[in-house]
Order: sequence, then C-alpha cells, then structure tokens
Amino acid sequence: MSGVLGPTEGTLRRVPEILEVESYRRLADQVVGAPVVRGWADGYLAKKLASPATWARAVRGLTVTGTDRRGKLLLLETDGPTLGVRFGMTGVLLLDTKAGVEGLFYGPHNFKEEWVRGGLEFADGRRLVVHDPRRLARVEVDPDLGALGPDALTLTRRQLDAALRTERGEGPAVKARLLDQSRVAGVGNLLADEALFRAGIDPRTPVGRLDDDRRAALYRALRSTTRTLARRGGSHLGDHMEARLRGGVCPLDGEAMARATIGGRTTYWCPRHQR
Ligand SMILES: [Zn+2]
Repeated sequence: MSGVLGPTEGTLRRVPEILEVESYRRLADQVVGAPVVRGWADGYLAKKLASPATWARAVRGLTVTGTDRRGKLLLLETDGPTLGVRFGMTGVLLLDTKAGVEGLFYGPHNFKEEWVRGGLEFADGRRLVVHDPRRLARVEVDPDLGALGPDALTLTRRQLDAALRTERGEGPAVKARLLDQSRVAGVGNLLADEALFRAGIDPRTPVGRLDDDRRAALYRALRSTTRTLARRGGSHLGDHMEARLRGGVCPLDGEAMARATIGGRTTYWCPRHQR
C-alpha cells in the first residue's frame, strides 16, 4: 500500500502546527465510540513510554469517548487513560479504512506504509495511524498538561498578557516568548512570524517593552492569523510567506526582509513596518 496523493513538492517540510493538529482532532472525532481492538507503536513513536508494548497494553479494549487538544498535543479521551499524540516535524494522523488510504491528509503528502509508526485499530476494522517520515512523533499515556500554557486558538487577552509578563528586566524577545509552549501552547514558527508581521512588531522586541497598545495589536493579530489561516487551509498560507526566502521583500512595502534565528527558529520580518 503506497502511492502519491497529489503534488508532493515541498510537502514533507510542512511542520504540523496548531491548525493542522486541530484538523487531526476533527478527524479523530470519527472514532469516538469505537472500541480499540489493538494498538501498536514502533520504537520511535513509543519513545516516551517504557516500551512499545506499554502502548499496546494501555490501549487494548479502550473505547474513545472524546477528543481534545492543547496546543500541538492531540488528546484522545477514553474510558481509561487519556492518550496523547505529538506530531513532531512531519507527523500526520490518518484514518485508514480497509480500502487503503482514505484518511485526511492535511494538504498533499506522500504516503508510504513504512512511515506508519503506529496507531489504533478498531473493532469495525478502521485504523487511526500516525504517518511520520522523520520519526519525531510520539504517543503518550496520560500526558502531563501542567507543563503547557493556555491554548493558542482560544487564548484570551488576559491570558496573552500573562504569557508576556516578565519577572525581571525586559525579558526575552517576543518571538521567543510566543514559541515557549509553557506560556502559550500551540504557537509555532510560522504562526508567530505571521502574527508579528500583522501586528507590525519587530520579533526581537523584549516582551517588557511591549506597552498595552502593542499587546492589544499582537492579540488582534494572533486571532486574525489563526482564523485566516484556518480558513485558507494551513499554517503555511500566511501573508508574509511569499517573502520567506533569501532576497524576499515585504509584500506590504517592498522592504528587503530581515532573517535571523530567534528562539531557536529561523525568523523573517520586515524592518520597515515591524518596529
Ligand atoms: Zn513591511
């Protein structure tokens, strides 16, 4: 069972961000009520567990009762433990029927059976699987949610203010703080850059220097970014994306885009309108 679904150019570099994981959650809604007859995971997918057998033992006989998500962590509620799935750099959730590949790929994607790292098989024969070429996706049993900040898709202004608070001095760069999953769960590299682009904020600005007006602008930009990109169909469809390459210019004002590593991730911004 292998094949190519649609054009594949560049798709393997698509990192699943919060919007993609939210689409996986909606897909997983289709297995609510279905009893699990078998679970399996390879050594990569089970890396956060004692062993692959831990996953198989934990999930056998469970019934999925609901789905949830915190940031980029997908949660499957069951009549036993909560199951968590993190998708790493290239993980995709698929609902695979007997007929073959019928799951939702969020955008075009290569499929290879060897890249199916594990999943759940249900009494009706369906399989919910994690497909992950780069082997960075992980399953968890009763994941610790205490380490994650409030979810980015339902973030309130008050929660954003709390996330941007600094205990002493000016604090870290706003881009780095937005990527800190313990402060806000689910803002990835592209969403952070797009929101700062829309808000007109230089990503290097220390959080302590953002006054109320600028925090309000950032809040509006985060909301418009997640809504607009969900409607367009993915985290990679932001306004600033066309400028996200060497020699790229700002689509608003034609300024040459700046590029630096901030918060450990490659960051693009416009030095003219992002101040
Ligand atoms: Zn600009």
